Amino acid sequence: MRSVVLRRDARDRPAAPNRRALAGLVRRPGFDYPASMKKRVYNFAAGPATLPYEVLEASAAALLDFQGKGFGIAECSHRGKEFDAVLDEAIARCRTLLGIPDTHDVLFLQGGATQQFAVIPMNFLTGPADYVVSGEWSKKAADVAKGLGGDKIRVIATSEATQFDRLPAPIAPDPAAAYLHICSNETVHGNRFTEWPSHATLVVDASSEIMSRPHPVARTGIIYAGAQKNLGPSGVTLTIVRKDLYDRIPKSVPKILSYKAHADAKSCLNTPPTFGIYVLLETFRWMERQGGLAALEKRNGEKAKAIYDAIDESGGYYKGTVSDKAARSHMNVTFKLPSDELTDKFLKEASAKDMVALKGYRTVGGIRASIYNGMPVEGCQLLATHMKEFAQKNG
Ligand SMILES: *Cc1c(COP(=O)(O)O)cnc(C)c1O
Repeated sequence: MRSVVLRRDARDRPAAPNRRALAGLVRRPGFDYPASMKKRVYNFAAGPATLPYEVLEASAAALLDFQGKGFGIAECSHRGKEFDAVLDEAIARCRTLLGIPDTHDVLFLQGGATQQFAVIPMNFLTGPADYVVSGEWSKKAADVAKGLGGDKIRVIATSEATQFDRLPAPIAPDPAAAYLHICSNETVHGNRFTEWPSHATLVVDASSEIMSRPHPVARTGIIYAGAQKNLGPSGVTLTIVRKDLYDRIPKSVPKILSYKAHADAKSCLNTPPTFGIYVLLETFRWMERQGGLAALEKRNGEKAKAIYDAIDESGGYYKGTVSDKAARSHMNVTFKLPSDELTDKFLKEASAKDMVALKGYRTVGGIRASIYNGMPVEGCQLLATHMKEFAQKNG
């Protein structure tokens, strides 16, 4: 039998940088990327979303060769010493950044935030539970819970009648409810709870604002978040659980859906999303280099202000979809232009300036700028400038 000889040819070698392409390159500020990379755009995607370039670079290197060992971090056992050290450091850094007390566990789960919508009532619905519906995601969470708990799931406040342009009010949960569920930042509708409400067992879907600012972990029962907005790739769900809640879990809950079983196994009940967890570790390291969550909150506030100012100073040309300014999200800025034609033109011209994925969610329309931790200040400033120039030309 003749063996096939794979000959190395020019295609195996990395391409030399294309000097002509590089000569015309507009290097956008805010990223420290290598000269061989043609361009990195300002990506306003809602999720999966832009990540800090340093996080991508370090994760890419570890994917190829982890600490010079000759194998990548996605190629070793989740029960081996290499990954165990990654897991320990990820948990420790998450605890430090958020100031998580010993009363709470840090879990890395799968199935996204959507799976949490179901698993939370399966584990903790010991009696009636209260849901606040402030947008697309909390509505979905309540609907999934109703499918499992029926009348036990009570929507105590909703702002659906006004297209979720504000937070529902008043919010008066039953202190005896099994838990109070909220979505702290509504990714589609662009509102947020500046301050999380209080309840003996507060459950928070923080998917689209997790670690964009400090969170009151000590007074919260559960915080959960799909990683793909502020933390890393999709496939990891960061869940922080108060340990005393484990007593409520019915025996009928399958082990793979039990928070306690995952906690006992340090998130290694089965094979966890090892590479995703590695990326989270690099994100946590990056967050510490930025000065921690208080520093990120300040920067995120400045980023959001640049765009909201452009809306408010446009003389009504741009209309924010959230009418209550105090409830405006600092992560997902949603606004409308005078017409669909102008919206398309706005998007096209933004794209020509290297700003992409600004189209609003299909049910809301208009523009949505998702400006998570990974979006540099410069990206928001460029968008604000584009808004001003566009309104002047097309007003
Ligand atoms: C994206 C998102 C979800 C859904 O997350 P999956 O990981 O896709 O299940 C849930 N809630 C909020 C607030 C989100 O932004």
